[in-house]
Amino acid sequence: MTVADVFHELYGRAAEGVWAAPGRVNLIGEHTDYNDGFVMPFALPHTTLAAAGHRDDGVLRLHSGSPDVPGEVVELPLAELAPGRADGWADYPAGVVWALRDAGYPVGGADLHFASTVPHGAGLSSSAALEVATALALSDLYGLGIERGELAVLCRRAENAYVGAPTGIMDQTASACCTSGHALFLDTRDLSQRQVPFDLAAHGLRLLVVDTRVKHAHSDGEYGKRRAGCEAGAAALDVPALRDVPYAELPAALARLEDPEVRRLVRHVVTENERVERTIALLSSASDVRAIGPVLTEGHASLRDDFRVSCPELDLVVDTALAAGALGARMTGGGFGGSAIVLTEEAAVATVTSSIDKAFASAGYPAPRVFPAVPSQGAHRVS
Ligand code: ADP
Ligand code: MG
Repeated sequence: MTVADVFHELYGRAAEGVWAAPGRVNLIGEHTDYNDGFVMPFALPHTTLAAAGHRDDGVLRLHSGSPDVPGEVVELPLAELAPGRADGWADYPAGVVWALRDAGYPVGGADLHFASTVPHGAGLSSSAALEVATALALSDLYGLGIERGELAVLCRRAENAYVGAPTGIMDQTASACCTSGHALFLDTRDLSQRQVPFDLAAHGLRLLVVDTRVKHAHSDGEYGKRRAGCEAGAAALDVPALRDVPYAELPAALARLEDPEVRRLVRHVVTENERVERTIALLSSASDVRAIGPVLTEGHASLRDDFRVSCPELDLVVDTALAAGALGARMTGGGFGGSAIVLTEEAAVATVTSSIDKAFASAGYPAPRVFPAVPSQGAHRVS
């Protein structure tokens, strides 16, 4: 059954359209977004589809076909939407409707049905895919023509203020603004962006996503500590954010920091921003895309040793992939589990994949999910 068929079965009428929004992986630029820094995600071929129709009675009805959420339709009067409600998964799309209305957009009721191929909770941003699919559907249904960057800002507001998750702007921007064959350079300070050519297939390359399927329980608290440590570093260096520490001045900045932990955090953020700039330079020039491999691996070492957000499973993916001949590898996303990315020659995909599978089996870890990630298009109307 198509999503439109399911919509019809659920709501007893035809959907007015179907919209898609992708998950994402971050190529480089990790833990930089809350330091006003640079990120460079690209969209996955995996999407969340939203079949939708508008309603004139001020009611929002939501349903998801995902097996890991309750299967019933959630019905919410628009007048009751407010941050702090706890309707489980429905908070994400309800939060988007709330954010649109709170920003003054004349959004009324709607029926929505979602079907997703983005793995949940794997660091691939199923939450942003769900939000952006909702926002684009409503923008079109109500003829609002909201520009993509603003759509992302509104979706982030939904996730921060309504769902209560303190995420940066990267995920929603990636889902809303990416284009196929490109990675998206985003300056998280002024939200300026640039599409950077990243056509792997044309170079005989593949980028594998390895979902470790683990999520270590302490990740939220550790994230908060890293954020606080970065703020302490910026304060000690007397800059608005770590983004304002130029790479060339890093040694002098580090010499001014007394706390060894803060020093490590600062070193990661400043070098990571430089790695994003180096990656853009490599991808924008005529040089070989393969040259970004070592930059990715350097980024992993920095996240593991300086920022300390990796975990044994992620390190095992990276070490095994490199030993099996990959060009570069790193953890992606917040860390403490989730996914890693591996850049490899197309011809080496089978060897790299089986090496990772074997290494996980020998370590007694659950089998990882490995799939190729083609840089794909951002949110769009399907029908
Ligand atoms: P990630 O964004 O990395 O996948 P999050 O914890 O931010 O992880 O978001 C995952 C949550 O988003 C799920 O637990 C679920 O509540 C919600 N979610 C995402 N996609 C869907 C979907 N298609 N249907 C229902 N809920 C979804
Ligand atoms: Mg998320």
